[in-house]
Amino acid sequence: MKSPFERLKINESLQAALSSIGFEKPTEIQERVIPGIINGQDMIGQSQTGSGKTFAFLLPLMHRIDIQKEEVQAVITAPTRELAQQIYNEFLKISEQMPEEKQIKAKAIVGGTDRKRMAEKLKTVPQLVIGTPGRIKDLVKAQELVVYTANMLVVDEADQMLDMGFIEDVDQIASRMANELQMMVFSATVPEKLQPFLKKYMKNPKHVHVEPQHITAKDIKHVLLQTKHNDKLAMLIKTARNFNPYFAIIFANTKKMVDEIADAMAAEGLSVERLHGDVPPRTRKNIMKRVQKAEFQFLVATDLAARGIDIKGVSHIINYEFPKDLDFYIHRAGRTGRAGMSGVCASLFEQTDQHAVQKLKEKKITFTYEQYKNGEWIAVKQREKSAASKEQDGVYVPKPRKVKPGYKKKMDEQKKKLMKKKRRNQR
Ligand code: AMP
Repeated sequence: MKSPFERLKINESLQAALSSIGFEKPTEIQERVIPGIINGQDMIGQSQTGSGKTFAFLLPLMHRIDIQKEEVQAVITAPTRELAQQIYNEFLKISEQMPEEKQIKAKAIVGGTDRKRMAEKLKTVPQLVIGTPGRIKDLVKAQELVVYTANMLVVDEADQMLDMGFIEDVDQIASRMANELQMMVFSATVPEKLQPFLKKYMKNPKHVHVEPQHITAKDIKHVLLQTKHNDKLAMLIKTARNFNPYFAIIFANTKKMVDEIADAMAAEGLSVERLHGDVPPRTRKNIMKRVQKAEFQFLVATDLAARGIDIKGVSHIINYEFPKDLDFYIHRAGRTGRAGMSGVCASLFEQTDQHAVQKLKEKKITFTYEQYKNGEWIAVKQREKSAASKEQDGVYVPKPRKVKPGYKKKMDEQKKKLMKKKRRNQR
């Protein structure tokens, strides 16, 4: 039987490997970028994680790497260690299905691993390098890794690379690669600031944009849970307990807040780990391994974990606070509802978040308001908006009543009567 991947012109052993891991047909981004990459075209792939974008570049690269040549032929860069490791794991998924003589030699090169050991490992030359820009650049500069033989470069999550200040490192790697360099840039957004870099290295790139709503018909329920600033931590712990999720990621905006939440949850006996930039690399790696095996129930994280990382079985996202950059709300929510499963993205919501919620509604996110009552989550009814009453995201502002003339006087008289009656009864 013909594989649906055949028309993308990837070779038979890759097709067989894909069918043995149960991939039945290419996703939209794969369909639209793989033929061009195989033809050597520069490519800008604009799509979100979850669209199958990793294989959109991995497959054509694997197709093109010449197994006979013992030299670096392609470099894939990603902004975080976790993401680089994840791309490497996806590579292994396919590679392990291939006959041994067709297996590409690949190395994951990420910061945090011992430099000396890494240099030792590089004595066998990889054909494919997957890693973070800083570490790859260091090794290239130290001439422990030779990349001038490589003519394919992937920059994954390019907008995040730019935000994190890694584009310069990528630039330095690119400048040491082959002159005829094919560059593939994948990014959820293509900000103007990225243009100088793109122009420097790309010749008439093909720009493929897969609209977010096409990615997956994700079944994510967006929930707002009303809270007050002072009760927030207690409310979070209650919420975490009440959801009793298969696995939940709790997002906060700062490392300090992540620590505070994780400490409080641990003190309450919840099964919790944390992930942020100050957690030592080795621990981070270990946590990611344990996450995949669902060895604990809650991960508290900064937005470091919001982008790119594919964690299976995330049933709930809880936003302790809304992210400053609202695009991250979408990235965070995207960690759940993966692989056709349904998911819940719940946000603790206080007065000051009204503006954020409004902005998200403009992005076509539909929220429901819920409360935990008598052992179950129930939707809290939102009163209808009317000309005179204004419902502002869960906060009901009562309609000013029309007051009949003489009403105040009547009320005062009634009050006086009641007071008199009360005094009489007290005697
Ligand atoms: P990504 O957008 O690369 O993070 O991919 C999201 C998930 O989709 C990963 O778990 C992939 O293994 C999976 N995936 C990628 N391509 C396909 C495909 N053609 N069919 C089924 N699953 C896929």
